[in-house]
Amino acid sequence: MRLRALAKINLGLDVVRKREDGYHEVRMIMQTINMYDQLEIDIKEEPGISITTNLPFIPTNENNLVYKAAQLLMDEFKVKKGITVDLQKFIPVAAGMAGGSSDAAAAMIGVNRLFGLGLTVRELMERSVKVGADVPYCLLRGTALAEGIGEKLRALPPCPDCYVLIGKPPVSVSTKFVYEKLDASEIAEHPEIDRMLEGLQWHNLNRIAEHMGNVLESVTIPAYPVIEEIKQHMKDHGAVNAMMSGSGPTVFGLFDDKAAAEQACEALRETKIARTVFLTTVFNNGGRHR
Ligand code: ATP
Repeated sequence: MRLRALAKINLGLDVVRKREDGYHEVRMIMQTINMYDQLEIDIKEEPGISITTNLPFIPTNENNLVYKAAQLLMDEFKVKKGITVDLQKFIPVAAGMAGGSSDAAAAMIGVNRLFGLGLTVRELMERSVKVGADVPYCLLRGTALAEGIGEKLRALPPCPDCYVLIGKPPVSVSTKFVYEKLDASEIAEHPEIDRMLEGLQWHNLNRIAEHMGNVLESVTIPAYPVIEEIKQHMKDHGAVNAMMSGSGPTVFGLFDDKAAAEQACEALRETKIARTVFLTTVFNNGGRHR
């Protein structure tokens, strides 16, 4: 069975407070984009989960989120047989695009279907938070407000169709490191998530873009100033706005014009400040998993 695991960007990311258990309470506007990893999941007679992947530095043991997600369901339903998973990664790793979480979500969809477990997407979402805070969203997909540690989700009116230019500089950022360095009580400027919600309600891309903001930029950009350079480059080349996604270092720019987006993509490739440059669109096809 072949499945796509789609990447996300954060149109808005605010941290409300740090909880006593160390987790941060967030308020994020999530958006799925048409950039994906591919999973080929099949049943094997012998028990166990065997993972192969095109990236040599990705774990293939229980440290892979695909493994954790599949095992969670296979244990609960006492599945006797095993699975093989071939994971072809195209979403940049440790980049703020929820690649691993999305792979985990696809693995849960795959195991549920292959073994006929009969769980609804909602029921998968409830279980998936044990694998990671972003996995429930990766099962829901589309445009959504994520609160709590990211697991409290509300589907939102879809983001207006637009072009999304992705630029990832040649650095990897650990989400844990960024949240640890963030002082939630000292955030100078919070993004106006409520204004963005209005923009979505009115289907107005400019309104959404105008209020985009990510508090984690205050930690990641000083460590990697190239992120600001990529943002500026995209804005100078016609982006309605550009911002870092998640804990970074990936930058995305939104474009309402295809020709401008294509030119900006070409120009960014030429600078070589970003290693991964990819032009795509927002994905708003609800929870349909293929
Ligand atoms: P997020 O946006 O949720 O913070 P991320 O982009 O920062 O995610 P990922 O690419 O999902 O981070 O993974 C970060 C780390 O997790 C990697 O360094 C890798 O060792 C480990 N990992 C475990 N499973 C996977 C997977 N399926 N794909 C990629 N990395 C994985």
